[in-house]
Amino acid sequence: MKLLYCRECKDLLKILRSKESCDCGKCEAWFTGKKFFVRGPGVVLCPSNASIKKALDEFDKTGSSRAIETLILPAKAIGVVHLSSKKRE
Ligand SMILES: [Zn+2]
Repeated sequence: MKLLYCRECKDLLKILRSKESCDCGKCEAWFTGKKFFVRGPGVVLCPSNASIKKALDEFDKTGSSRAIETLILPAKAIGVVHLSSKKRE
């Protein structure tokens, strides 16, 4: 799972196969099955599954909250395509 975080409006949304826009409309992202496409001032976030599992295990045992690790994928990460500006196709 990958998430789009808009640097402008701070919206966070899951990247789906359908093209989705952030609240301010400056970013959009979609997934083709092989690549994640992002347009606008957003970054792609990748929550760590191992970190989520560890936090859930801790939560189930103690009920306490725990931070999870999330990577910010570089613009040139494999499988991620950043398009420079928002244009409708
Ligand atoms: Zn936005």
